[in-house]
Amino acid sequence: MPDHQMPDALYERLAIIGAGLIGSSVARAAGKAGVAGHIVLADADASILADAERLGLADSYHSDPAAAADKADLVILAVPVGAMASVAGDIAGALKPGVTVSDVGSVKESVLDSLTQTLPPHVHILPGHPVAGTEQSGPAAGFASLFEDRWCILTPPPQSDTQALDRLTRFWRALGSRVEIMDARHHDLVLAITSHVPHLIAYNIVGTASDLEAVTRSEVIKYSAGGFRDFTRIAASDPTMWRDVFLNNRDAVLEMLGRFSEDLTALQRAIRWGDGDALFTLFNRTRDIRRGIVDAGQDAAVADFGRPHKD
Ligand code: NAP
Repeated sequence: MPDHQMPDALYERLAIIGAGLIGSSVARAAGKAGVAGHIVLADADASILADAERLGLADSYHSDPAAAADKADLVILAVPVGAMASVAGDIAGALKPGVTVSDVGSVKESVLDSLTQTLPPHVHILPGHPVAGTEQSGPAAGFASLFEDRWCILTPPPQSDTQALDRLTRFWRALGSRVEIMDARHHDLVLAITSHVPHLIAYNIVGTASDLEAVTRSEVIKYSAGGFRDFTRIAASDPTMWRDVFLNNRDAVLEMLGRFSEDLTALQRAIRWGDGDALFTLFNRTRDIRRGIVDAGQDAAVADFGRPHKD
């Protein structure tokens, strides 16, 4: 018997493995939207699970992922990309026929491969990536409106069950997302340039600044202008999550990094030779991209340090 008598429940039992920023936000948003009759949260870390319970994010809590996945209609893996294969191995024996197993990992091809190799054939494997997040981690950092007006990219393998895919699409729409279906490899290439390489650049520039001997660390903090401050926010993102992203999207990141390095060399040359026109033309073009992002509702024109949110 479902815990919530929700007429709109798309899944009777939703299990979320990983109660961090994204997993806890899915639990909150799914609870609010009434799309699951019973929500189970699991996490390997007892203190994180206790925090989630204190926050009242789900209907039940498990340290054992297999116990959480037992009888679930939808299982969402919300652990770092490098932990997906082992969690899939943990739950494989507990999954009932017809269950949908999805995830929220920032890399898709490696996750699809490991789920396909690990899970039994009676499972619908439908990987996903909500393109939404912050630089924070843990259950207290999550919030129900995180996915509103953000894209959720689903990367179903060929010949996926259309009914299962349709239901998962409706699930993410109920959480406020816009849903796009994409090939997993293409997803990884797109996200390499829009997310992964920018994070690498942020980690690198903040690392370079902190290594400078001629400029003291306190000067870097004291005089951090808007540009550097933005980079420090991104470079504060979870080390485990981002280590796993780079290890699992190696080819696409290296491809985009190669192009980035070539363009950076061209900029270096323009500065060396005083080619102001080249700099001005590029800066004008990039300003248009920023305007396009704001116009598309993917960011506000104002800076949002501290990430205020509605709930
Ligand atoms: P997070 O806040 O660090 O949460 C991840 C949680 O999973 C942690 O509580 C972690 O516990 C737990 N965990 C790790 N290994 C586990 C295992 N084997 N079994 C059960 N639980 C385990 O990270 P997050 O930001 O929510 O990221 C989760 C996933 O979402 C990642 O795949 C990431 O790529 C993706 N994602 C993140 C963002 C973002 O902006 N953060 C956006 C979109 C997608 P411990 O801390 O004890 O390891």
